[in-house]
Amino acid sequence: MSDIKPHPKNASGDYYVEYGCCTACDVPFSEAPGLFEYDDRNHCYVHRQPTTGGETNQMLSAIACAELQCIRYRGSDPGLFDRLAAMGEVAICDNPPAGFKPAIRNHVAFKATTSGITLRELVALFTAFLEKQTTDSFRYKIKRPRIRDDSASLQFATRLAIPGVRHKGTYDTIMFRALDASNTKGDFCAVHEDECSPGQSFVLQRWLTNSEQFDNVMWFTKDEWNANGTTGHREPC
Ligand code: SF4
Repeated sequence: MSDIKPHPKNASGDYYVEYGCCTACDVPFSEAPGLFEYDDRNHCYVHRQPTTGGETNQMLSAIACAELQCIRYRGSDPGLFDRLAAMGEVAICDNPPAGFKPAIRNHVAFKATTSGITLRELVALFTAFLEKQTTDSFRYKIKRPRIRDDSASLQFATRLAIPGVRHKGTYDTIMFRALDASNTKGDFCAVHEDECSPGQSFVLQRWLTNSEQFDNVMWFTKDEWNANGTTGHREPC
């Protein structure tokens, strides 16, 4: 039994927000609109439990993208445990099954629908996608990319502009690689750091699946990536 104190206003159900750990990161309101609210002290809580597959995906995205591990799972659905393991979110479970450990899918392979895209152009497309997410209260701060012959890395962090809240997210790194023509997994892959940035899987998935320039998006754990012949997964979790 967890001794973590839930926010008293959480809707009853499997997902809840821990009381007393809120930096008002605003993530739940972009990732899962309608499922969270702020109380009168600017501390978020679960206002409504997800009732559809789409809302569950939104809740998982909020869990992955939140700055702190303050959105928690107290349910016992084996399928949900598998998805949380693929996100690396083992520590947010109150009642984990025996042997529960992370198997984070942090490698994504994809094909380009037009030939000749360079790594520099790929990074520019991803940067443009991040810049498009800018709102009055949210933006990504993006560092100058490092481009090499067969790889490119990009660092970015979230910045919030909410009255009364000073918030700076830490930098995450995405590494892009051009794959050898003999690699059946795709034309490119993108990898984010293992357990510190599971939210970046959702950011990459949104970019890749909403763009007409890419298809055949497949996700892998590190072990799956290094094994020959694995087909991967359509979703990051
Ligand atoms: S996810 Fe966490 S830090 Fe972000 S608003 Fe909710 S309780 Fe606050």
